[in-house]
Amino acid sequence: MNIISNNPYNHTEVAKIKAFNLQEIEETLALAQHTYLEWRTTSFSERAEHLHNVALELENNKEDYAKTMTLEMGKPISQAIAEVEKCAWVCRYYADNAPDHLAPKPIETDATKSFVRYEPIGVVLAVMPWNYPFWQVFRFIAPALMAGNIGVLKHASNVMQSAQNIQRVFERAGLPKGAFQNMPVGSDRIENIVRDPRIKAITLTGSKPAGAAVASTAASEIKKSVLELGGSNALVVFDDCDFEQTVATCVQARFQNTGQSCIAGKRLLLHDKVYDKFMDAFAKAVLQLKSGDPLDKDTYIGVMAREDLAIELEEQLKATVDAGAKVLVGGHRQKAYFEPTIVTGVTPEMSIFKEETFGPVIGVTRFSSDEEAVELVNQSDFGLGVSIFTEDTARIEKLIPLFDDGAVFVNDMVKSNPNLPFGGTKISGYGRELSLDGIQEFVNKKTVYIK
Ligand code: NDP
Repeated sequence: MNIISNNPYNHTEVAKIKAFNLQEIEETLALAQHTYLEWRTTSFSERAEHLHNVALELENNKEDYAKTMTLEMGKPISQAIAEVEKCAWVCRYYADNAPDHLAPKPIETDATKSFVRYEPIGVVLAVMPWNYPFWQVFRFIAPALMAGNIGVLKHASNVMQSAQNIQRVFERAGLPKGAFQNMPVGSDRIENIVRDPRIKAITLTGSKPAGAAVASTAASEIKKSVLELGGSNALVVFDDCDFEQTVATCVQARFQNTGQSCIAGKRLLLHDKVYDKFMDAFAKAVLQLKSGDPLDKDTYIGVMAREDLAIELEEQLKATVDAGAKVLVGGHRQKAYFEPTIVTGVTPEMSIFKEETFGPVIGVTRFSSDEEAVELVNQSDFGLGVSIFTEDTARIEKLIPLFDDGAVFVNDMVKSNPNLPFGGTKISGYGRELSLDGIQEFVNKKTVYIK
């Protein structure tokens, strides 16, 4: 069986990759386990040297790697290049910081000496999505390798050439064969792979159904999982915000990556006093976003990754309009292209407020008090992050503890940064990626007590 990726912009075939059969899956897991037994004995400085080489390989060939992502899933090329650069950043971050993150931690007790050691656990399986085909994988594999673990990837079926390219990055950078392997398989193979005793933990980024399926298999085998699922972040704009800056940030928060980001600001909550002025400026800015060929460096809005995802978004929009909301800007779809769209009069029962919208559509809701804003933010099953825009320090201090989300960003969009933990609450998942918290998810925290 072949796994085929099609260009969502011009509908041509980009890659046809032969799916692994059972024997090839077995060989992959055997090599991963074999490599682990060697890799776990390497020093931090050896691992760091490898990751610095990976960063260089990424930077030296960023245009090529970016182009394949753009062809496979329609991401505008300038955003794809920035994604490859960010992957180099996370490699260097962990190369430089993992020795501190994983240094033995002394703890005072009645023993002569007691401490915690952070040891590798083995082969980690990553099930990853198509929206950031490189970044989602590197933010998992960089800390995994520095911790002494090994990575095996099941990537989304529509970005399998990018998945092959990631394996090529590690090969060209000179890592041992088996340190990182792409395993081209359909999702029907995953249950047995999760159950394989050589797989010690699983990390998944994607939808709730995929997360629930994989995590429940992992739980039945008493294996740890980290889930980074969807989000429906709110952008909360108060009347005392830095106006121009807030408009520009909200546009980027919703529309970058053609709206296909778990941490995108999907619900725009506007204070009554700023509503008219803000909507006027926001609508003008959205109308100026340049749609076009994803390979053109000036394109900001490409196409969505697959036509079925655009159709799903169209259905969510229709249900919301049928329930009484109004389309202020955009609203039309042509195959996988979806116009940047603003919907006003959105209330909490409506589809695009309740569900995740994974494309360039933003719903706008008004509020008139801090309490109402907090209630609207928390009135979501998701809990990845929230952005608030205000210059009032007392309000900022008061509001931060009141949100249920995994992150609060003040006067900026929610974004991932290797220095900061990343992850959600509620149905956005559990566990954390990036920073010290991320690298410590898949280690054995071994307690040592010497009497
Ligand atoms: P999925 O969650 O279905 O796909 C993500 C990954 O999980 C892919 O590698 C997929 O493989 C795999 N997968 C799917 N189902 C299973 C399963 N039962 N067992 C094992 N692996 C599985 O995302 P979709 O592409 O279908 O997108 C649907 C929605 O998911 C989006 O509209 C968005 O709401 C959300 N999503 C969220 C993302 C995020 O960043 N949090 C990223 C992508 C999507 P395969 O491709 O072979 O099916």
